[in-house]
Amino acid sequence: SDGVVIVGAGHAGVQAAASLREEGFAGPVTLVGDENELPYHKPPLSKAFLKEAEAKPQVLRAEAFYTGAGIALRFGERVVGIDRAARRLELAGGGRLGFDRLILATGSRPRSLPLAGGDLAGIFSLRTVADARAIREHAAGAADVVVLGGGFIGLEIAATLAAGGRRVTVVEAQARLLGRAVAPFISAHVAGRLAAGGVRLLMQTTVERLEGSAGRVAAVVTSAGERVAAEMVLVGVGAVPVTELAESAGLATGNGIRVDAQMRSSVPEILAIGDAVNYRHWQSGTDVRLESVQNATDQARLAARTITGREEPYMAVPWFWSDIGDMKLQMVGLPGAGDRTVVAGDAAENRFSVFHYQGPVLTAIESVNRPADHMLGRKMLAAGFSPTPEQAAGGELKEIIARW
Ligand code: FAD
Repeated sequence: SDGVVIVGAGHAGVQAAASLREEGFAGPVTLVGDENELPYHKPPLSKAFLKEAEAKPQVLRAEAFYTGAGIALRFGERVVGIDRAARRLELAGGGRLGFDRLILATGSRPRSLPLAGGDLAGIFSLRTVADARAIREHAAGAADVVVLGGGFIGLEIAATLAAGGRRVTVVEAQARLLGRAVAPFISAHVAGRLAAGGVRLLMQTTVERLEGSAGRVAAVVTSAGERVAAEMVLVGVGAVPVTELAESAGLATGNGIRVDAQMRSSVPEILAIGDAVNYRHWQSGTDVRLESVQNATDQARLAARTITGREEPYMAVPWFWSDIGDMKLQMVGLPGAGDRTVVAGDAAENRFSVFHYQGPVLTAIESVNRPADHMLGRKMLAAGFSPTPEQAAGGELKEIIARW
């Protein structure tokens, strides 16, 4: 038997390989990834990794884990084609790899922004440890940095570089930061603290062009006509799913590889998980594509169960975190589903949570430096328990849950 082959050795792929063994799968497991590294954690790349010149990537599992679990890890290899009829993968080097079942865990990549001057040196985006190393090296010699896009990764980098003494400007097209992800109250709080920390925020502003000198970026010219000095430009305008392989194999896609509640693509022997997939969410009833470690690893666990013959639907509670300067943001649930919010705690102290409700039902909690609310939220949402908005605002959740 050719066993299971997993394409993509990131958070989802590595967890799928581990979970197959935990679920008792005894056949061959092969994990193929195109990065030249032992698989590692991505979240630190925009956080601790940029702060310390000597920081090394944190591996997801030690090399001995793969050997011990009988997982054939082939990193530095790229899959370029799927022959569905022959159940065989084609590798970039010309090799081939047979499979009985295939898991696509190809992740996402930074959205590219077509810009006049976009081919100058000194323009970066962040996805891999190779990108993070390049950013770290370049930032060491740059006084002025412009971040394009006020999303999580862009703001994490902005806060880190500003704390490290760089002059940082964030250019955001929308009227608020993190606009697609968090409540307006959180956006305003994050903007206030970043500004207090010296980050300049240019809202409702886009980029007209980049200017260079001697082939290197020197300034960003905004839609307002301002010329902002920049020895380095970071493009953080979101990510797009990596679906080329899936598309070439004829799998159904649409903002990601379409999967059912068991992580099966439109071709049953091919499953897909992580940032690359799009699915009907059990909580919101809408089609979503989530980019988080939780989503990647929980889907990986479920895909392993599907392969070992269980029919469990995906029902994990979504959660996410982001560290922006001195703000630990933690989110649980899908905030878009709610129609009312209440705030617990004190924004002035940089410690509060926003509780989202749809009628009487708690749908999400967004916390800033209130980890207990987040942890309780994960339990409450998993159990389908809703405190009243008054109880949530009163800040006595622990007692309420103990009584319940
Ligand atoms: P990935 O981890 O990206 O893995 C996909 C892998 O597949 C990649 O290595 C890719 O190179 C490889 N691949 C693609 N195509 C092929 C091919 N044809 N052949 C071989 N290999 C291939 N999430 C959080 O929850 N909290 C955070 O704080 C957070 N911070 C982040 C900070 C940064 C800088 C980044 C980039 C992401 C962050 N995320 C965070 C998101 C999180 O890392 C992703 O959701 C997660 O990595 C998704 O896992 P994945 O396995 O689907 O994709």
